Amino acid sequence: MRVSFLKENFDNNCARFIFSFVLDSDDKRKANSFNAGNGEIILGADTCSFDFPFDVAIPHPDLVCMAALKIVSPYIGSTLIMDRPISRYFAEMAKTIYPNIKYINTCNISPRQVSGERYSISFSGGADSLAAANLSPDGTILILSARKQHPLIGKFESWYSTEANQATLANMPQKFVKICVKSDFEYLSTNGKWCIYPDRYAFTIPSILLADHFNLTGILVGDVYAAFSADETKEYSLRNFEKMRDYYKSVNLDLDSPVKGVTEIGSEIINRAFNNGDIATTCQYGSFKKPCMRCIKCFRKSLIKAYLDGKNLSDSVLDNFEKSRAVQNFADKISDAPMKFQYTFHEVLKSYNLSKFSHIQKIKNKADAIDKDSSFITNIYLPGYQESYLPKTMQYSLQKLLKLFNHH
Ligand SMILES: [Zn+2]
Repeated sequence: MRVSFLKENFDNNCARFIFSFVLDSDDKRKANSFNAGNGEIILGADTCSFDFPFDVAIPHPDLVCMAALKIVSPYIGSTLIMDRPISRYFAEMAKTIYPNIKYINTCNISPRQVSGERYSISFSGGADSLAAANLSPDGTILILSARKQHPLIGKFESWYSTEANQATLANMPQKFVKICVKSDFEYLSTNGKWCIYPDRYAFTIPSILLADHFNLTGILVGDVYAAFSADETKEYSLRNFEKMRDYYKSVNLDLDSPVKGVTEIGSEIINRAFNNGDIATTCQYGSFKKPCMRCIKCFRKSLIKAYLDGKNLSDSVLDNFEKSRAVQNFADKISDAPMKFQYTFHEVLKSYNLSKFSHIQKIKNKADAIDKDSSFITNIYLPGYQESYLPKTMQYSLQKLLKLFNHH
């Protein structure tokens, strides 16, 4: 794969970064995503761009390469040629993360250097992301990756709106720096029906491209407990995350999640403590503060909210979910598959009588089949934070967490 990177300005000196890809004979257009799920993806176009709301200088070549890899790594045969060669150090790190790549062109430049401590959050506007922001110090930079239409692909997944996510960002407290970056990169990788992230943490690309602009030393994400245990009932492990952190460290960025020991119930508890749970946008089908109330995320989040309110969802709301295709499909599929949020469902459904709702009853039956202590589900799982060194930003988050969940 050959990658070229170009900067142009638009609208009163705003920066646009444009990536263009030329495939080599051993590259492929059909591949499997490196993101969780490993779905089959097709590369639909050979260029994409990122629009920033201000001017941005071209970042360190290692950052440009890191961003490019998050867009096209699954399609690369064996060789990556960047139009700006990268440091030897970063090339070696990239090759360990992407074993399919045997050669990347390098030159004599030093790896990226940065001092001090400044974090961004790759902010989605979802409840977990909001919780991560709530736990972060003043001045933290919230960077949202919002979709813009691709000029060659046109309308695709037209139901998928990021306007509500942008509204969430706009409604965040003024103590944060808030930035919306618009990009069409998500439309490059699809299965023909919907977009699929080509790589792990692809949503951090705008943060990576802005790292030099803000002298970032770290990027925070909103990964919760279930991201570190295949499902809530399995063993919690930071092993894969550590590998990813080493990789980010090679461009001098700490990758971390303030909510890594928190469940979805915990995120909601945090957001309530900060009085802003109502501005989260988890549903991609609805609009700001108006979720669709039919999708599986709306189902889970509504149950969590009702549980924390100390009440049950009304029969009419339950009936609405019972009739939802998404909930029915979920209920049919889980009987012989692991359930990612099993403990959560067990907890939030425990006070329901579901005799009138057979699909939801099926979900409850599956969720109730647990044999381990799940009390951490409404608290924090502290082993996630036990590290030899915690940067100030993460110390700040941990102190907030300990106080919020009454650990002394
Ligand atoms: Zn929804």
